[in-house]
Amino acid sequence: MFVDKARIRIKAGDGGNGAVAFHREKFVAAGGPDGGDGGRGGNVVFQADTNLSTLVDFKYKKRYFAENGKNGSGNRCKGKNGADLVIRVPKGTVVREAETGRVMADLSTEEPVMVAKGGNGGWGNSHFATPTRQVPRFSKPGMPGEEFEVELELKLLADVGLVGFPNVGKSTLISMVSAAKPEIANYHFTTLTPVLGVVRVEEGKSFVMADIPGLIEGASEGAGLGHEFLRHVERCRLVLHVVDVSGIEGRDPIEDFQTIQQELERFNPELASRPQIVAANKCDLAEADQVERFCAFVQKHGYEVYRISAATHNGLEPLVYGVSRLLDTLPPIRIYEVEAPAPADLSRFSRNVFDIQQEENGTYVVEADWLKPALGLVNLEDEESLMYFQRVLRESGVIDRLEEMGIQEGDTVRILNFEFEYIR
Ligand code: GDP
Ligand code: MG
Repeated sequence: MFVDKARIRIKAGDGGNGAVAFHREKFVAAGGPDGGDGGRGGNVVFQADTNLSTLVDFKYKKRYFAENGKNGSGNRCKGKNGADLVIRVPKGTVVREAETGRVMADLSTEEPVMVAKGGNGGWGNSHFATPTRQVPRFSKPGMPGEEFEVELELKLLADVGLVGFPNVGKSTLISMVSAAKPEIANYHFTTLTPVLGVVRVEEGKSFVMADIPGLIEGASEGAGLGHEFLRHVERCRLVLHVVDVSGIEGRDPIEDFQTIQQELERFNPELASRPQIVAANKCDLAEADQVERFCAFVQKHGYEVYRISAATHNGLEPLVYGVSRLLDTLPPIRIYEVEAPAPADLSRFSRNVFDIQQEENGTYVVEADWLKPALGLVNLEDEESLMYFQRVLRESGVIDRLEEMGIQEGDTVRILNFEFEYIR
């Protein structure tokens, strides 16, 4: 089965928690803090694999989770890092965040791309020993790994994309100019999966051509085959529009040409204005004046047109050279730029309800639904980020409430499983 679109959930591993532990030695009653750090969570990485040609595997398996980091332990033992999860996809796959549509990766090269970052491991209490705080009883929890719902879309990497009605001879053409062996038959929609062929122009010069299923009227609105496949033309540098000029199927070639132009326009206006060459095919079956009428029409609209007969190999050489000449003047195959996520908006966490309880040992415990996402966005190892979180606590009234409750400098506050000392 050929599948060129899929939606999956990916999650990087969570960081392991830091340990609270105290050094124990013979003859030493209580040693210093020696809790080790948690391990880093594994990343989720995408990698292009030229042996794959469809996204079919992702129809069956929908969830991809990288390994969590292990917790730290005593004796300054660092938890083991979680292993990265490498997801293999066909070359040309574009990964987008489902929620926002932003491009997270374009697997057009063999270069692996990290898409979800594993959470950092928490610091063990050995980090928190200071001259004044000799016995830190707290450690940091590991940070959660990034998690996304992503859309995978295979967009073939080809220089030239063939478009046209079914049965006009696209598959015949690619099989004549390249080594590609698509199915050729005298009925509509024989081509159900895109086929790539390398067209050799001359020594050391070639280009890649893609044969995609034929388009039909209304396909851009999802009626019938075609629309779905236009995404494979989206990267192409040049569109090669194949038209059956013989009218053997009872249609008018000029109308055919205009219909396909409208379909391209509807799918993506930019695609309709992509450099385009027209191949007037089945000239062997057509009347000469029929061919000339069609060619005059498309030339009037500014297109280069080649009279060919794919089946009899007539006129294919000039067409290949014409395509190659135009390609020489065009920019390279489109690679999708990775888009940065919108900056985390912490303001939505302020002015929210919360609850503070004091435990018997004096620790203040702050609880609120919004704290978990807020803490998730804060990188506690990053000073600026931490300061922002403190500002959120202040703005939301948490600090005021703590002061009303009589909190003193040095008292312990716990938020989720993160403990810190209150400092004015
Ligand atoms: P596609 O659907 O556009 O891929 O069309 P195909 O390549 O499968 O061709 C459809 C039918 O038209 C087949 O029976 C081909 O043999 C025939 N055909 C293709 N090109 C020519 C041509 O130049 N002349 C003639 N007489 N028949 C052709
Ligand atoms: Mg075909």
